[in-house]
Amino acid sequence: MALVFDHLHTDTIAAIATAMSEAGIGIIRISGPEAAAIGSRLYRTPNRQKTDISLWRPGTIRFGYIVETDRDGKEKLIDEVMLSFMKAPHSYTTEDTVEINTHGGMFLMNRTLELVLAAGARLAEPGEFTKRAFLGGRIDLARAEAVMDLISSENEFARKTSAAQMEGAVSSKIRELREKILYEIAFIESALDDPENYTLEGYTDKLMDTCISLEMEMNDLLSHAEEGRILKEGIRTAIIGRPNVGKSSLLNHLAGEERAIVTEIEGTTRDTLSETVRVGGVLLHLTDTAGIRETEDKVERIGVHRAEKALENADLILFLIDSSRELSQEDAQIAEKIIMRLQEGTKCILLVNKTDLSSEIKEEEVKSLFISRGCECPPLLFCSLQTGEGMKELGEYIAKLFHTGEIAEKNEIFLSNVRHKNAVREALESICLVKESIMNGMSEDFFSIDLMNAYRVLGTILGEAVEDDLVEEIFSKFCLGK
Ligand code: GDP
Repeated sequence: MALVFDHLHTDTIAAIATAMSEAGIGIIRISGPEAAAIGSRLYRTPNRQKTDISLWRPGTIRFGYIVETDRDGKEKLIDEVMLSFMKAPHSYTTEDTVEINTHGGMFLMNRTLELVLAAGARLAEPGEFTKRAFLGGRIDLARAEAVMDLISSENEFARKTSAAQMEGAVSSKIRELREKILYEIAFIESALDDPENYTLEGYTDKLMDTCISLEMEMNDLLSHAEEGRILKEGIRTAIIGRPNVGKSSLLNHLAGEERAIVTEIEGTTRDTLSETVRVGGVLLHLTDTAGIRETEDKVERIGVHRAEKALENADLILFLIDSSRELSQEDAQIAEKIIMRLQEGTKCILLVNKTDLSSEIKEEEVKSLFISRGCECPPLLFCSLQTGEGMKELGEYIAKLFHTGEIAEKNEIFLSNVRHKNAVREALESICLVKESIMNGMSEDFFSIDLMNAYRVLGTILGEAVEDDLVEEIFSKFCLGK
């Protein structure tokens, strides 16, 4: 570890470690050399006696009271609490830690925190507890970042990947890659230093094999990263179709009980509506777009512009067609716009709605909206938002398009963090340079430079050799109390 924790420079920090809401209990965490002393100043035993917490058996939790002492030395009871004491290095932060479990009212938690601060602690910065765990050498940087992701994870998949990362899945994969690289660096160095015992004859073939396998492993990590992103952050989904095809009905149907999280983007009546829903365990960030069509109406144009933006940013387009009306020019225009997106890799599902009414269009006609323009027709689903027909299948179609079922089950390692992805990308480039050097018949010390670089950038994922300011930046993103 490049950074060594210096206990001498540590003050004692404190923060509310639980959510700032009206919960059953709240925890105020105090960490640092003065933690026990500060706790002792405020805590009283069940029979209101003072106690020296630093003499408690580490890892114990006791019932008692938090008191406030006024200027005359009179003590006022603030709350009944459970107080725990953990001794360095056996704590979350690796420092002496006291946690006060209070009743969870916001007022009470803040009041207790104020007392803790008045007793000598400093308010912790966001992520500072976890930063200390990292600086104390208890967790590496990837795991520290996972703590942050875990706190902010929005769904089950995100929680699972962050938890796996925290347990070190990403870290051990990265270590494995680094070990392979380090072995080659060491071998080259040894051979150059001690040619009698190590021969480089035939070595380049072997190194080439290693580079190819490293390249494959890193490419795998990167390609899964995108699938991981979608599962973690959700699928940006645009609902599109001409007026009255049932776009709002689809949004409402999918939203179901989750209607509470409707966000109405301010603006005009012909505007976009957004909503986040869960379909088959995956988050969909839905945008119900206003019809996209040429218009002179100024207000409508704003809506159309927004709809086009939603289309541009979408991972998935749900294109609705009304089966009770004949296809129109407008359907064709929308299809044209979608085709442009399909070429960029956006996915689409065609929903032929209102099957409960008598049909005015044939499946072939719908398909020909795409096929006649030289494009494969996206998966097509007949449905009725009136009766709910086809809605179960929609979830299955989405899962199939994004391979979500497979991914979630495989328990793959996901690089869900942009910094990690960039590091792997850079390491991959270096490995490709090694391959190039081999093919160009360069000398061995050329290989070492690029191998070394790959080794170094992968190390940044684990927090080795990272500059202090990067560490600062990463931890500043943490929420308070972690
Ligand atoms: P939008 O303009 O595309 O948002 O369409 P709406 O969702 O507002 O729907 C327009 C009209 O079609 C409403 O009266 C809906 O009740 C009706 N509608 C939507 N889906 C269906 C369906 O599957 N069957 C029938 N019969 N009517 C539907």
